[in-house]
Amino acid sequence: MLRRTKILATLGPATDDPEVMDKLIEAGLDVVRINFSHGVPDDHRKRVEMLRDRAQAHGRQIGVLVDLQGPKIRIEKFKNEKIQLEEGDKFVLDGNLGTNDGNQERVGIAYKALPNDVERGDTLLLDDGRIVFWVESVQGAEIHCNVIVGGTLSDRKGINLQGGGLSAPALTTKDRNDIKLAAELKADYMAVSFPRTAEDMHEARRLLREAGGYAGLVSKIERAEALDVLEDIIKASDAVMVARGDLGVEIGDAELPAVQKHIIQMSRDLNRVVITATQMMESMIYNPIPTRAEVFDVANAVMDGTDAVMLSAETAAGKYPDKAVAAMDRVCREAEKQRKVRVSDHRISSKFERIDEGIAMAAMYTANHLDVTAIAALTESGATALWMSRISSDRPIYALTPHVETRRKVTLFRGVYPINFKPESSNHAQVNRDAIDELTRRGAVREGDLVIITKGDLMGVGGGSNAMKVVRVGDMVEV
Ligand code: PGA
Ligand code: MN
Repeated sequence: MLRRTKILATLGPATDDPEVMDKLIEAGLDVVRINFSHGVPDDHRKRVEMLRDRAQAHGRQIGVLVDLQGPKIRIEKFKNEKIQLEEGDKFVLDGNLGTNDGNQERVGIAYKALPNDVERGDTLLLDDGRIVFWVESVQGAEIHCNVIVGGTLSDRKGINLQGGGLSAPALTTKDRNDIKLAAELKADYMAVSFPRTAEDMHEARRLLREAGGYAGLVSKIERAEALDVLEDIIKASDAVMVARGDLGVEIGDAELPAVQKHIIQMSRDLNRVVITATQMMESMIYNPIPTRAEVFDVANAVMDGTDAVMLSAETAAGKYPDKAVAAMDRVCREAEKQRKVRVSDHRISSKFERIDEGIAMAAMYTANHLDVTAIAALTESGATALWMSRISSDRPIYALTPHVETRRKVTLFRGVYPINFKPESSNHAQVNRDAIDELTRRGAVREGDLVIITKGDLMGVGGGSNAMKVVRVGDMVEV
């Protein structure tokens, strides 16, 4: 059985060796994340080049998702790299302090507007919530804090405001330059960090298109405010990331499970792709096997209906990158055997708005109720395959398309597998035969199997699927 849930792994120093990359690909990698928060453009160029080279060597299609840094708020540096804070200590976040001048009493802040955004009584969370400050007063550029939870605080750690409300715009100057790099790298997806509104997504899309990039836009849901306008943000995106790291810090960890389920459901209902991210196999940064809780987390995300599960430091900087991918692979496969994951009563009572949506729904209803071996969606943009993949099923959906951009895009869609297919004829019966031959050649179907084919009258036109045909391999008749 093919795995339906897609594995998205972040590249980094631990994956820079081509042999490691080969192992990741063999373990089941589908999409890579290039994190623009770390490294310089040349690191990213080399990683994408190496990935594409190794993917080609394996005859695999692997998508590239670049992730903009966004307005991550960080402290500056200490004179001696780090300090130790105890509960009850006083500490100042000081907008006027030099970049490298932090000491036991104060440290600089890179985001100069922070003192305007906080007031007495606010809670600041540092280093993903490991350290907690209570704001006692704001005096000009200085934020005077009491340490509620202490610990080791080191250079450039992140700061979040509990409850959200920081005014930093989603796209920084660095992001605007990195968008050009995204276009240059021919990224398939570009993630926007900390979007607050749909407009942030529209602006990123505009800038990317101006730069000549064709990537799908991914909104990372990681601010408390984003949840208030979730539907608008999702509609402005092609894919959505449940960015549990920052989101958990802003809204509180206990709220995350319900919010994750809500975001996944809403994304699927709105025909968008959804990624579940952060700390999924965190302990595998140091250990060759996941904890039981991590196994449950990945399996639960699959049961929630996520398209993809993501690895961050586990692959980028971990000791066992290929084992982390392999662990996700086996947990996803097993979770996908659950009945709930394979059948669907989704959209059973909703109205369809588009012809291609109607065709896709009819195809999936048939696939789930008739003993069909495969679905062949002849597609230009991938839209039909996307509609199909919003419906739970255990039947593989093959996206047959001549366009490499579409083949890479569907690498993120649950249950969808790309196939390079260029109809040589305008005769529909001939195209059907060629499509079946291609699936047979790849071992996806055999003589006697039932296959659903969907396509449009006008092949070559995106969004034009208007026909569905069920054929038995071996006895296709002329039509
Ligand atoms: P990050 O985003 O890894 O870029 O911070 C994901 C998250 O916050 O969960
Ligand atoms: Mn984040």
